Amino acid sequence: MTRWFAPGRINLVGEHTDYNDGFVLPMALPMGCSAEVRAADSGWTVVSRQEADPVTVEATGLADRVDVPGWASYVLGALWLLHDDGVDVPPLRIEVDSDVPTGAGLSSSAALVCSVAGALDDHLGLGLGPDGLLDLSRRVENDAVGAPTGGMDQLASLRGEAGHALFCDMRDLTSRPVPFDPASSGLVLLVADTRAPHRHSDGEYGARRSGCERAAGLLGVRALRDVTTDDLDDALARLDDEELRRYVRHVVTEDDRVLSVVRLLDEGRLPDVGPALTASHASMRDDFRITVPEVDTAVEALLDAGALGARMTGGGFGGCVIGLVPERDAGAAGDAVRAAFADAGFGEPDVFTAAAEAGARPA
Ligand code: ADP
Ligand code: MG
Repeated sequence: MTRWFAPGRINLVGEHTDYNDGFVLPMALPMGCSAEVRAADSGWTVVSRQEADPVTVEATGLADRVDVPGWASYVLGALWLLHDDGVDVPPLRIEVDSDVPTGAGLSSSAALVCSVAGALDDHLGLGLGPDGLLDLSRRVENDAVGAPTGGMDQLASLRGEAGHALFCDMRDLTSRPVPFDPASSGLVLLVADTRAPHRHSDGEYGARRSGCERAAGLLGVRALRDVTTDDLDDALARLDDEELRRYVRHVVTEDDRVLSVVRLLDEGRLPDVGPALTASHASMRDDFRITVPEVDTAVEALLDAGALGARMTGGGFGGCVIGLVPERDAGAAGDAVRAAFADAGFGEPDVFTAAAEAGARPA
């Protein structure tokens, strides 16, 4: 039996920049998924502690991607792809157990696919190495599940380091740990899971992605990453579609915010990153239009309660908000979010603190 653990992640800044070949700055969380792989007599069985029924693929083998419940394709997907890659996959039983809330923007999906990929690599002696693991876990989500995500989540889950955020260049998939330890500055990173139901998130995500690709085509660049802040006004003037102009402005300014936050963290100026986080939220709300009333309310409440900066994290349309808060104000800031939600008639949010932890590993 082989067991791996892979974490969920928080993205500190750089939202919807990954599929534009841009920059992101996620960190791995303490919470995550563990995956156990063991030999079986026949067939391929996947079990999740978070799902009622196991799923077994038997007679059809792995050549046909039989119709399975959505969650099981995140696990079987790795087997289908390995089979396609020419690996002779023996009968297996794979059991997963995760404490990452699903659909909350903390990337339960990357925790799941990365823990499974790591355990399979280890168990079958595939020797995938760091790049192969990243490639397999990205393809599981993009090709086997069919989610048009940009690859940041798997990178964060695989390569995260304790006490650090991970500065990633999503064009060449290189990454570098950057010190991120709020406690050393008397701060905490507060997370408010709004538990807002995702509204049309898949279709809206795809629409943003294809809009960005259309804009890059119209501007004659490979990806929006190639438009610099100096070029921005020119680029905007060349687009006559107001929606695409807003998308371009978000992506170009968001890439720039990632670079400025990384610069500050490298200089040991963590408390100074607040304004860039808040500006990122405004850009997601006003230009990219991926926020919902619950996340806007949580951000306002955190800022009113003394947060140095606050923003939604993750793909949007619900999910979590993060705030950089002085340690002494953390309790009051959590209370402020809960009170604002009660006033607005929203359900109760889940508020907790998070520190950066290590990425995927044998467990
Ligand atoms: P997020 O990654 O932000 O949590 P996604 O929509 O990308 O949201 O992924 C959530 C999906 O991942 C769930 O709907 C489910 O299909 C799958 N998933 C995540 N964790 C588990 C788990 N422990 N067991 C079964 N399926 C899971
Ligand atoms: Mg996900």
